[in-house]
Amino acid sequence: MKNVNKKCINPSCGLIYDIENNIYECSCGSLLDINYLNIPEKSLIDKFYHRRNHGGNIYNESGVWRFRELINFADIEPDDFSQCSDKLVSLDGAEGRLSRPYNMSKVSEYAQVNNNCFYLQPEGYNPSGSFKDNGMSTAVTHAKLLKVRKIICASTGNTSASAAMYSSNENIDCDVFIPRGEIAPGKLGQAFQFGAQVIQVEGNFDDALAQSLEYAKEINGYTVNSVNPFRIEGQKTVVYRILEHLDWNPPDWIVYPGGALGNTSSCGKALIELHRWGWIKKIPRIVVVNAHGANTFYNLVNGIFENEKLIWNNGNPNLNLIDRYYEHMKKQNIFPRTKATAIQIGKPANIVKALRALEFTKGIVIQVEDKDMFDGMSIVGLNGFDCELASGAVPAGIRHLRQEELIKKDDIVVGILTGRQKDPKMAVDYHTNPDNTFARPPKDIDQYNV
Ligand SMILES: *Cc1c(COP(=O)(O)O)cnc(C)c1O
Ligand SMILES: [Zn+2]
Repeated sequence: MKNVNKKCINPSCGLIYDIENNIYECSCGSLLDINYLNIPEKSLIDKFYHRRNHGGNIYNESGVWRFRELINFADIEPDDFSQCSDKLVSLDGAEGRLSRPYNMSKVSEYAQVNNNCFYLQPEGYNPSGSFKDNGMSTAVTHAKLLKVRKIICASTGNTSASAAMYSSNENIDCDVFIPRGEIAPGKLGQAFQFGAQVIQVEGNFDDALAQSLEYAKEINGYTVNSVNPFRIEGQKTVVYRILEHLDWNPPDWIVYPGGALGNTSSCGKALIELHRWGWIKKIPRIVVVNAHGANTFYNLVNGIFENEKLIWNNGNPNLNLIDRYYEHMKKQNIFPRTKATAIQIGKPANIVKALRALEFTKGIVIQVEDKDMFDGMSIVGLNGFDCELASGAVPAGIRHLRQEELIKKDDIVVGILTGRQKDPKMAVDYHTNPDNTFARPPKDIDQYNV
């Protein structure tokens, strides 16, 4: 019997599918989980640690594949190098290699959390510049197992950059659907550079995703958006790297920006599994930070819309409430609007998996203004790290929760910086305006008297 299958996330359905196909949705309409039947031994913790001394083995060097026993859907013998190189897709071990939690003193001061309790994990230091590479290496591994001819995604920019990078390296065609004019130039440039076919869609990301999913169905292409459960598997390693750095003592909080909610879902799944296997007891609380102008999840979870709080409800959340919210957006002409285009999303595709994550972790959803994200992005820069505007939501959100006293000064907090700056104009504009809190405007030489 096989060790792995796909399983409907709704416990009252629970239908099982084998993994040798590109189905990502159950016949009941719910998303699917990758479901492992084995229980990994906790002694693997030592093995993972020793693999960091990789000795040239790229599957040990990779911060994703170093944890391959926990995401072994390709059913390889983990210590057999030739099986790894036959089946696992990696950009020379670069995905997840540099990402781990770092203390950042200036950001901790800004967020008002004790510096020794406060960490940010720069997922922008991935080969294509965002956390997407964690999940793309696993999704493209599955695509390769299926011998697919075309990879397809919709994107706010970073998914297309990552999909294009891994596809070109594996010699697979890649079509990327993007909302015209709504993605950062540095991200669009990567899609072209890595040889993808760019398809521009009128409208926003939600429209691009709908059209790409339809197109994928028509041509039997392989979708690598985060509705693909193999993306979620790779993104679980973000959590493994946090835990490893903290000697497997879970933090109090893990903080993400919220867009399509793939991160929220993968963090939840990682924690649920580790808890079930007996690897961890304490459960960190997830914080999802929405942009004020793209706050569907915030509104639904907190009961802002129709006074009803959307909850997991044992796998049966009130889907009608979600539909009514989308209908309301349409009727009132409400479009997601934020300068943080990576999270400019109105219909988060992973909303139900994210509800499960909130339920399991007692998670919370907050929102921040664009101007706070700009401050967050800029203060990260003052610690010598680089992130984009959407990632700036993380320090901004932690500061907000400190001010509300929900996070205590000596709580252990880990925030995820999801992506590197790919729109330098954001930083230039911020610093050129002296009204911005951390701005250091340029001076002309004749004003510059020493
Ligand atoms: C994709 C992306 C997000 C949104 O992530 P989700 O997991 O879909 O919520 C946030 N920040 C950056 C930089 C991204 O590229
Ligand atoms: Zn089902």
